[in-house]
Amino acid sequence: MIITKLPNIINDLNTVLLPRVCFGCNARLYRGEQILCTPCRDQIPLTEYNFLDENSLDRTFYGRITIEKASSFLFFNDPGVVKNLIHYLKYRNQPRIGTFLGDWYGALLKKDKGLPAIDLVMPVPMHPKKLKKRGYNQVERFGKQLAHHLNADYCDDLLIKTNNTPTQTQKSRIFRWQHQTPTFAIAKAQGLVNKKILLVDDVVTTGATLEACARAINDEFNVTIYIATMAMVP
Ligand SMILES: [Zn+2]
Repeated sequence: MIITKLPNIINDLNTVLLPRVCFGCNARLYRGEQILCTPCRDQIPLTEYNFLDENSLDRTFYGRITIEKASSFLFFNDPGVVKNLIHYLKYRNQPRIGTFLGDWYGALLKKDKGLPAIDLVMPVPMHPKKLKKRGYNQVERFGKQLAHHLNADYCDDLLIKTNNTPTQTQKSRIFRWQHQTPTFAIAKAQGLVNKKILLVDDVVTTGATLEACARAINDEFNVTIYIATMAMVP
């Protein structure tokens, strides 16, 4: 009796000694709760978008690039639970939040009748300098979990980020900063042709980064691109 209850006792003892807290609201997490407390989990703003119907994220990309369909898991609310989660994921060395979100969203996408069989899940790449500084790409674990649920391959070495290129070098520094377009390139063409690709990112605002990624892939290969992000600014 004592033996079978031992893991629970140790777990409870751990909770007392090293209290785990919710990344959404800092409340104490109880046994069985991971990353978020139950109230935060219940009130997290799910977009409830799918890959069948048109949504406001699709409209962001209209007339810009050939994207088959875009969807997002959550609405980025400021202030709010989603903002806190993304902050811990990106700046506080908590990559496991990506696993948590990817697992949750992946289970939903798996049942999404509008999403065909995906071949490759590709994250928006980070510049090597930034990657070195942060130590991880915040989209990696999210993308890997989506790939796992969708039975697809996860590929983070086909698309690479090159330097940000100012479009108007003669203008002021602030102008240049505002008009920088991220640039991406294909590192390996092998394995890209005719694939159905799910491009993934953390938070989509203007869609410029995803557009630049899609453009780099689309320009040369006969691919179909879908987009899935953790969150979007409503
Ligand atoms: Zn909470």
